[in-house]
Amino acid sequence: MTNTSYRPNSKILMEQAESLIPGGVNSPARAFGAVGGTPIVMLRGEGAYLFDADGNRYIDYVLSWGPMILGHSHPAVVEALQKAVRIGTSFGAPTQNENRLAELVVEAVPSVEMVRLVNSGTEATMSAIRLARGYTGRNRIIKFAGNYHGHADSLLVAAGSAAATFSVPNSPGVPPGTVADTLILPYNNPQAVAETFDRFGDEIAAVIVEPVAGNMGCVVGSPDFLGTLRRETEKHGTVLIFDEVMSGFRVAYGGAQRRFGIAPDLTTLGKVIGGGLPVGAYGGKREIMRHVLPVGKVFQAGTLSGNPLATAAGIATLEVLQNTNLYAKLEQKSQRLADGLLNAANKHNVPAVVNRCGSMMTLFFKSSQDAPAMMDWDAASKCDTALFAKYFWSLANNGVYMPCSQFEAFFLSTAHTDAMIDETIEVAEQNFFCVH
Ligand SMILES: *Cc1c(COP(=O)(O)O)cnc(C)c1O
Repeated sequence: MTNTSYRPNSKILMEQAESLIPGGVNSPARAFGAVGGTPIVMLRGEGAYLFDADGNRYIDYVLSWGPMILGHSHPAVVEALQKAVRIGTSFGAPTQNENRLAELVVEAVPSVEMVRLVNSGTEATMSAIRLARGYTGRNRIIKFAGNYHGHADSLLVAAGSAAATFSVPNSPGVPPGTVADTLILPYNNPQAVAETFDRFGDEIAAVIVEPVAGNMGCVVGSPDFLGTLRRETEKHGTVLIFDEVMSGFRVAYGGAQRRFGIAPDLTTLGKVIGGGLPVGAYGGKREIMRHVLPVGKVFQAGTLSGNPLATAAGIATLEVLQNTNLYAKLEQKSQRLADGLLNAANKHNVPAVVNRCGSMMTLFFKSSQDAPAMMDWDAASKCDTALFAKYFWSLANNGVYMPCSQFEAFFLSTAHTDAMIDETIEVAEQNFFCVH
C-alpha cells in the first residue's frame, strides 16, 4: 500500500535523515505517523504541483500546510525575493519592508491597529498570550480542545495537529505548573464558555481560539459560539485572541474576522502572510499593543524578526491577493472539489462529510452514517483513521498529495484549475471509493 518501491530516492533520503534528525523530519506533521510508510521527499514546486525526489508529480493540497495560497514559485514572489536577496538578507535594523507588510496587515484585518512581526505562528501566539497576561495582570487562559496554537508550553494541552495525530495530550517536558492556568473547554460549546466565565471570569486574562479550526481537521466556529466568546470576554475584561495563523488571508482577505464580521482584541497571523518564508505576527488594538516593549513593559524580541526576505515574500503575496479577485474563484473551485469528493463517497456508501470554509477544508471519514456532525474534537477524534490512511495512499500513489492525517485541513491555491480538481475527484473515485 505504501509503495516505497515506487520512490527509492525518498526511501534512501529518509533513511539518512532518520540517523541525523529525530524521525527524519523537522516538524512531526511531516512524518506520516498516522498513515504509515515513508514520507515523500519533495524536490521542487511549481504552481499547484510538487515533484518528489523520484520525479513523480503530485497535485498539491498540502501547500506547505497553508502558506502557499498562490501556489509554488509564483512569479511575483520569486521576483520579489530575487530583488531582496541582492541588497542584503538581514540588517537587525528597521527597514521599509516592515512598514509595508505591517500596513498591508493593518489595512486588511479589521481589528488590527498595530502589529508586531515575528518568525512563526508559535512565536505569535506565545507573545500574544504574554501580552494579554501583562496587560490584564491575570494568569488564567482558556483554550479549546483540538485547537492548535503552536508549541509554546502553556498552549500545548489538548492541542490538535501533530499532537492529535500522535495522541500526545500533553507533552513530556511541559511542567504541570505551566499549564495549570490553562483551562480547556470543548469547541463550539457556548454554554461551557458562559459557565466558565460565571465561575472564573475575573481571573481570565485571555481566550485564544481558532475562529475556523484547522488542526482537528477543518471545523468552523459557529456564530453563537464566537458571539458568546466576544460577549463574555467584553463583560469580564478578558482579551479575546483570534488565532488566525491558518485562517488569516486564507478564508478571506483579512481572515475569518472579516468573513464573519466579528472583531477580537488581538489577532495572531502566520502562514500566508509570509508567502512561504518564516513569518508570524500579532496585532490588535493600539491600547493593548502599546504595552509591548519598548513602548510598554511586556518583553518580546527577535534577531531575525521583520527579515527582509521574509517580508518581501509576504508583501508580494498580499499584494497579489489584494489586487485581484482571487477569493471568489478559490471559493468556487473549493466548492467543486468538496462536492466532487462527497458525491464519490456517497455513491460508494462511504460515510463521510466535508467541512469547508473558503479554500480550507477536510473530508472526514465518519465512523457510521449517523455519526454526529464534526463540530468539535470529541466528534472528529472518532473518525475512521484507518480508512483515512488507505485514502491517503490511494491518492498519493496516483499523483494527488493530501495532508497525511485526518486531523489536518487541506487547501487550494490560485494555481489549482478546474481540470486539476476534476482529475483529483476522478483519482479518488477510481482508486479509493470504488474499491475501498
Ligand atoms: C500552524 C499554526 C500555528 C503554529 O504556527 P508555526 O508557524 O508552525 O509555529 C499556530 N496556530 C495555528 C492556528 C496554526 O494553524
